[in-house]
Amino acid sequence: MLYPDNTDQAEIEALVQRRSWKLGFGGSLESAYDVDHRKRAVGAFKNSAVFILVLYLLLSSGIYLLMPPHELLNWLSLYGLVGVIIVLAGVFARIHTLDRWFEIYAGAGSFGAVALSVAVTGVVVDPVAGQLTQAAVMYAMVIIYSVVGLRFKHALYAGWLGGLAGTVLALVLGGEVDWGLLHRTYTGSSLLGMFIAYYAERRDRDLYLQARLLRAAQERTEEYAGRLDRLSRQDALTGLANRRHFDEEMQQEWRRATRQQSSLAVLMIDIDHFKHYNDTLGHVNGDGCLRRVSALIAAHTRRPGDIAVRYGGEEFLLLFPETDRETACQHAERLIASLRDAGIPQAPGLPREFVSISVGVAVAIPGVSMLAPGELICAADDALYEAKHGGRDTWRYAAGLAGPGSSGQAVREHESV
Ligand code: GH3
Ligand code: MG
Ligand code: MG
Repeated sequence: MLYPDNTDQAEIEALVQRRSWKLGFGGSLESAYDVDHRKRAVGAFKNSAVFILVLYLLLSSGIYLLMPPHELLNWLSLYGLVGVIIVLAGVFARIHTLDRWFEIYAGAGSFGAVALSVAVTGVVVDPVAGQLTQAAVMYAMVIIYSVVGLRFKHALYAGWLGGLAGTVLALVLGGEVDWGLLHRTYTGSSLLGMFIAYYAERRDRDLYLQARLLRAAQERTEEYAGRLDRLSRQDALTGLANRRHFDEEMQQEWRRATRQQSSLAVLMIDIDHFKHYNDTLGHVNGDGCLRRVSALIAAHTRRPGDIAVRYGGEEFLLLFPETDRETACQHAERLIASLRDAGIPQAPGLPREFVSISVGVAVAIPGVSMLAPGELICAADDALYEAKHGGRDTWRYAAGLAGPGSSGQAVREHESV
């Protein structure tokens, strides 16, 4: 999941509709937005720090050229620190472990940069150079509000507190503050920056909500597609694989067995006297019986690649890759025994007390003893027919198939009980 919190879809839709002027979602959505915003802000700041540094250098070199020599040291000792702050913040943004502190270092850096820029205006006396330092304040304000990537409230703290600290610093350093000019530069650019930052965050929040709705819709579509895919491979009544799924799996296993020259075993299973069961107890009970039998059959698939299939009405199939004749016959034996142990009551009117099955077993190494999957299924089907003729509630191995892994032993057939 892209968004780990479980905020209700309806809550997000309501927020999109409401379009509140407030910058805050509240609750877990706000925390999720916080994390998401921080991640994007740090990513963007890695690049914008370089841009900010270039702007700073351009501006500084311009001021440097116009600064009278006797003011140079005063100016540089304060404004040079702004450059150090920009470089440090840019370095921090590239240290991944500091990402969660982005608001702290970017906010503190912005505060410092504003404070120093404002303080410089009080310290530099030369009128021309002084005007340039005022321009630098305007740059600083627009940058912290619209380029650094701080949230509106954090930019607000950094901007106004920085301005206040800068004014105090200028006075402490013995400078003079030109309130009128500072209003026209600092206050004006602050208001412009606030306006930009507020609308940028509102837009960012709207986009965030839209992205979440889109992602949720995408996840739903993927889930439906997955469910549909599963349903298209499953038998609705029993939950076993259906014929379509089996055909695909069989092709795949056949190819693998041909490549590896390993044996494939098929057990064809049919419920005995099921028509009688159905006719006597009704279709609903018949369905229940089919479900119970299929659960017992499914329990015999243990390894990856083993597959239990509802092959037809009351016919089932088990496919066991890399299984020799001996093991396949043991599977048949155990399957029949598990049906007996389950003791599903048979419908009245038959000599048997419990529902039973008959099983046909066939094993082959593709390409050696057999050329196509259909042949293996036919052989198992024929063996099933033999089991039915052998009195039901029994299994037979496919006649004429030597069966890999049998070590030439005589075919061991289970006698009906
Ligand atoms: P045998 O021992 O020779 O296999 O006899 P049988 O009665 O089991 O064989 P037959 O093929 O004559 O009958 C199969 C019955 O299975 C017929 C049909 O009513 C029932 N059947 C097939 N599909 C379903 C199903 O989905 N639900 C239910 N309740 N019955 C089904
Ligand atoms: Mg039957
Ligand atoms: Mg049948």
